[in-house]
Amino acid sequence: MPLRLYDTWSRSTREFTPIRPEQVGMYCCGPTVYDHAHIGNLRTYVFEDVLRRALALNGYTVRHVVNITDVGHLVSDADEGEDKMEKGSRRTGESAWTIAQRYTEAFMSDWRALNLLEPTIWCRATDHIAGQIDFIAEIERNGYTYLTDDGVYFDTSRQDDYGYLARLDVAGLQAGKRVAQGEKRNVTDFALWKFSPPGTTRQMEWDSPWGRGFPGWHIECSAMSAEYLGPWFDFHCGGEDHIPVHHSNEIAQTQACHGTRLANFWMHGHFLVLDAGKMSKSSGDFVRLQTLIDRGNDPLAYRYLCLSAHYRSSLRFNMEALDAAQAALDRLRRSYVQWPRGGTPDAQSVARFKEEVDQDLNLPRALAVLWDVVRSDLPAATRRATVDRFDAVLGLGLADWNGDAFAIPAEIAALADERERARAAKQWNEADRLRDALAAAGWNVEDSVNGQVLRPLGKTK
Ligand code: AMP
Ligand code: ZN
Repeated sequence: MPLRLYDTWSRSTREFTPIRPEQVGMYCCGPTVYDHAHIGNLRTYVFEDVLRRALALNGYTVRHVVNITDVGHLVSDADEGEDKMEKGSRRTGESAWTIAQRYTEAFMSDWRALNLLEPTIWCRATDHIAGQIDFIAEIERNGYTYLTDDGVYFDTSRQDDYGYLARLDVAGLQAGKRVAQGEKRNVTDFALWKFSPPGTTRQMEWDSPWGRGFPGWHIECSAMSAEYLGPWFDFHCGGEDHIPVHHSNEIAQTQACHGTRLANFWMHGHFLVLDAGKMSKSSGDFVRLQTLIDRGNDPLAYRYLCLSAHYRSSLRFNMEALDAAQAALDRLRRSYVQWPRGGTPDAQSVARFKEEVDQDLNLPRALAVLWDVVRSDLPAATRRATVDRFDAVLGLGLADWNGDAFAIPAEIAALADERERARAAKQWNEADRLRDALAAAGWNVEDSVNGQVLRPLGKTK
């Protein structure tokens, strides 16, 4: 079965075929590093990681690019207010550069804790200022810009299909505009380059053909994606909030410069919400991965929770849901460590699992296939080999887990398998005999909903 994915541009689930078979290009909008990431942000990166792993399952090699926004993202997505980095600097009294460095490192540590695959390329906006200036100059040469007192703006009225990704009603927005738009000609126009305010020096500013200042927020993604993936690549991803402004503007810029809409597939993860409502980085009141670790959860339990909801439905987060995910992960690990190595994956289960993944990343259904295998009467070594295949997509790091693992000798695993088969056939006397044989060899066996759990006698954990 081919891989089918939902594309926001066409509003449909389409079969994926790569632009260049040897390498799939994937660009994911990364964090604005003026504060820690919250678990909502991280949900989006888990979704993107699963997409990448699903592509690998289908035999593709992926060139995965993630940017770090360390300049130019203003407090309002509509080019007003302070730069988030400079605001972060006022909050902590440190330089914007120090803050960017600190939160980039914190972000990467969350990334590793969630077992997200390392991108092929991390790229920082401030390392690519010259490329962004060139990109703006090309848009200018093509006649899509105008100058105001505070910067170079993109004239969205020059494009008939501006905002198509979001199905924006541009005329309606223009007629109903309530906010002052300053010198902007159209309510949807946006800054490509902003001037440093007269008489002030910003911490982050650069010379440009138009004057000293800094790039608008959207230009970095158009410029860096073209630099690393070319102007037409396979996937552009982000959270659903990016559809109406950030991604619509990236498309406008790249259309004006290269005549493409960047990516063949535009994919968006839906939001994580709290019982109380939306979680937002700018309100300062949010849950971090470290918050979950501090209360005793494994970060991978949060990953498991993300997998249990489809990426195109919102995920309501609360601690009960997290604890349920933690319990499921614990059960899975305890079963897994009991199974000996050396088996061959069960082809039928692997095919069922792949079918769910290939249907627009239906991870909740793929997890159901996983639990069917855990509870099945397949030989333990087969279960292990099969679950290893699944974990290449799930990314729960089962093979690396050694929290309270016991090495189970092959002959003990074989006795346990025999006992499981006896129980399945309701041969209770035989099952009891095998329990005694296990005990004689120093192993205790308990029956749980997920199958047998083996422990060396005298150990309780
Ligand atoms: P930011 O650091 O604000 O630029 O956002 C980083 C990523 O997180 C972007 O892809 C956003 O779309 C995404 N995002 C922001 N809030 C949430 C949320 N509550 N749930 C899921 N994704 C989010
Ligand atoms: Zn972006």
